[in-house]
Amino acid sequence: MTGYATLSHRPLRRFWGWGNLDHGLSDAERRAVRDGLGRLGSLGTPLSEPKVEEYALAAPRGNVPAALAAIVSSTPYDRLNHAYGKSYADLARLWLRRVPHAPDWVAFPRSEDDIVALLDWASGANVAVVPFGGGSSVVGGVESAVGGDHAAVLTLDMERFDQIHEIDRTSRAARIGGGIPGPSLEAGLRPQGLTLRHFPQSFEFSTLGGWIVTRAGGHYATQYTHIDDFVENVRMVTPAGTFETRRLPGSGAGPAPDRLVIGSEGTFGVLTSAWMRLQDRPRYRASASVRFETLATAIDGVRALSQSGLQPTNCRLLDANEAVSAHVDAGGGALLVLGFESADHPVVAWMERALALAADHGGSWCADEVARSMAAQTGGNEHGDAAGQWRHAFLRMPYRRDEAMRYGVIVDTFESAITWNAFHAFYEGVIQDVGDAIHRVTGRASRISCRLTHVYPDGPAPYFSFSARGREDGDLASALSMWREIKRACNEAVIRHGGTSTHHHAVGRDHRSAYEREVPDLMRQALVAAKATLDPAGIMNPGVLFDPAGRTIGVTGALA
Ligand SMILES: Cc1cc2nc3c(=O)[nH]c(=O)nc-3n(C[C@H](O)[C@H](O)[C@H](O)COP(=O)(O)OP(=O)(O)OC[C@H]3O[C@@H](n4cnc5c(N)ncnc54)[C@H](O)[C@@H]3O)c2cc1C
Repeated sequence: MTGYATLSHRPLRRFWGWGNLDHGLSDAERRAVRDGLGRLGSLGTPLSEPKVEEYALAAPRGNVPAALAAIVSSTPYDRLNHAYGKSYADLARLWLRRVPHAPDWVAFPRSEDDIVALLDWASGANVAVVPFGGGSSVVGGVESAVGGDHAAVLTLDMERFDQIHEIDRTSRAARIGGGIPGPSLEAGLRPQGLTLRHFPQSFEFSTLGGWIVTRAGGHYATQYTHIDDFVENVRMVTPAGTFETRRLPGSGAGPAPDRLVIGSEGTFGVLTSAWMRLQDRPRYRASASVRFETLATAIDGVRALSQSGLQPTNCRLLDANEAVSAHVDAGGGALLVLGFESADHPVVAWMERALALAADHGGSWCADEVARSMAAQTGGNEHGDAAGQWRHAFLRMPYRRDEAMRYGVIVDTFESAITWNAFHAFYEGVIQDVGDAIHRVTGRASRISCRLTHVYPDGPAPYFSFSARGREDGDLASALSMWREIKRACNEAVIRHGGTSTHHHAVGRDHRSAYEREVPDLMRQALVAAKATLDPAGIMNPGVLFDPAGRTIGVTGALA
């Protein structure tokens, strides 16, 4: 295919959007997206899909040593495919054919020795290194606009670290390569009847290493929410050397070194493998969709569930707007998508108790639908019921976003976490502030929706989505400037109303200013000092989380 020369072994990607080049929306799905956007006003002519040769990339700055040339690419496709992640602003800039800061090179190391050689050279040559897993970051985590005075930027793609090295069936754990994508990981464990059971929405195009260093949130709504809980040990190559933490089921020996790696977002080094705790594949499932007349009663019901010890695997509460967006019928109120599963025992008793709790708070459901799910133990993975419809809409969302972008529509999400006592004020305050910002910037009202993606006994993780019309003529450049103002308002709103800058999307470059307001200053200094030990030249993912010691970088990327 013209322009797609690459050193990568992966199927070619839609570098300007979601998924592989040969896989997008069907015609019917495109029509449905356009019909949905129609409520925002008349649609102009859509932008044409980008082609590699439409981008004017600056020449790489300098040369890589001859000894590394075999694993380093500077083809236009490789540079474009690694210039950004998959946030709204990332994709908008690609649709606009604006890539002023493509990485100078993209490396595809085959071994830890290759990574050591790359980091040695980069440290000596003042070349910034951006570790890259699946590139699904939505916070500017892999953006190659690193700021500072670095001589060049090298993106380090982990795709060849895609093996399951060893399975310990007795302890139910496996040592797995940091670059393995979700589907390969699960395919490798399936023959043993095992699963990691970590399913972020980006599962297909994100990797184990990316999940660990961004503290990703998966499918489980309660108990095992973040990847953190599944990490038994980590192995990391840093510019200062390689270390591996001990494999232990638990330990009280001082601050945990692996906890420093979890959430480090490529700023300390490159995660090459990890021992991960596994689970037996579930055999018993039950699901139900519970309707509540108001969000307030639904919240009380979900809180009761979260504090009951029942630990549902799925416990997603959709507010009325979110239900409309997901094309499920909440009857104008809120909808709870509830699920239980187990490898060991039928879960009917758990579901019955959960429904009784929901009923105490006014929840209602279709008895036949629930009875069918319990009898079949399929857990609502089919499209027939509301839970199945919601799941289908959830997985197709990133493809639908690409289509909206072509018409200059602003589509984005942000997430946080907050204790139950502060939830209502937080929910209303955030929707009000972000709604005001969208109105001020675009001159129109917008629909902001919310779902609870994870719930803890002490509070939920609310996830907000919005779409807004930019200019009447669908001009994407002006939509992108409007997005900047709206995104700043989102960052401000979650902190102002008492939440965290991110529950699971990570900090990256786009949440940095909000993160700085929540991390205690002394702890930030301690993290900078840890970085100075592991990365003395300050080359690892500059601009993410905090500045390296001795360099002032500040906010770079989409919000700079
Ligand atoms: C449509 C969509 C849905 C999403 N859904 C979810 C969701 O449900 N839950 C969730 O938590 N997130 C979600 N995300 C965000 C994103 O998928 C996660 O942050 C994910 O963990 C990133 O993994 P990745 O392999 O793609 O990492 P990348 O995007 O490649 O990198 C992310 C960060 O990790 C660093 N990094 C990557 N690999 C390594 C490594 N081996 N060593 C050191 N540093 C590394 C990068 O430098 C960067 O800072 C979603 C994103 C999209 C676009």
